[in-house]
Amino acid sequence: MSAPIAYDRAVRLSPLVRRITQNNPGLFTGPGTNTHLVGANAVFILDPGEDRDDGHFERIVEAVGDSRVAAVIPSHGHPDHWPLAPRLARHFGAPVRFFGEHSGFNVDQPLGDGEILEAGGVRLETLYTPGHTRDHLSFLLVQEHALFPGDLVMGWSTSIIAPPEGDLTQYLASLERVRAIPDLEILYPAHGEAIVTPYDRIDALSAHRKERTRQALEALGYGPSRIGPLVERIYADVDPVLHPAAAQSLLAHLLALEAAGSIERDNGGEAGPWDDVVWRCRKPT
Ligand SMILES: [Zn+2]
Repeated sequence: MSAPIAYDRAVRLSPLVRRITQNNPGLFTGPGTNTHLVGANAVFILDPGEDRDDGHFERIVEAVGDSRVAAVIPSHGHPDHWPLAPRLARHFGAPVRFFGEHSGFNVDQPLGDGEILEAGGVRLETLYTPGHTRDHLSFLLVQEHALFPGDLVMGWSTSIIAPPEGDLTQYLASLERVRAIPDLEILYPAHGEAIVTPYDRIDALSAHRKERTRQALEALGYGPSRIGPLVERIYADVDPVLHPAAAQSLLAHLLALEAAGSIERDNGGEAGPWDDVVWRCRKPT
């Protein structure tokens, strides 16, 4: 079920799911990072959060209580998701599991696409869902028709896709992949409240990206341009505080359009600051 965000306690969302939200609200974290405990006698800790205050750590320890921790699992390598992982793993004697490796922490057991995590009667299916980052995983709790999409789908905003780590083509493919899961009833994102209309939300996000791509192409139809003026035009409806982030997302769109052969770099494509690259539509041959 959906329930309001609370910082001071674990919020029960279903028989197998509890959420502890870290008090780290911000532009990119929304109300804060959601740590999810999945299971009962044995639990998986998803997205442990930042290691910046003892409060979050203690609330997790308290919520786990006498249960066994089967694994501590950051959904991806962004710094609002993983830093508390080593400390929790040490405390509970549990492994840190993650897609591949990470320069900031030790991965005890790498976790790959399709792997099934089982403990205490709970079964989580691992899905590799890159796009927001290259190392992004989502988790399906089949028993409850629930998906933990990490930062792939968020409750409060669209996801940031910042190249080179972020990739729009991969992001859209990942959205399509989770869209194809049958009988989804709820999404528990790593930021914001639970989403009780999963397919509508996924469709809205994918439509939003396609519209931005269309707008980028339309704007370049007026002539070649650097990214700055394109952001001003396309993100006119967005708070200017978010324009640097919007520029990152727009770059993801431009790179996807370039990969598709629709646009090219006016100045020959040499490497340089992205702000200096002039983009133009490719003339039909
Ligand atoms: Zn992230």
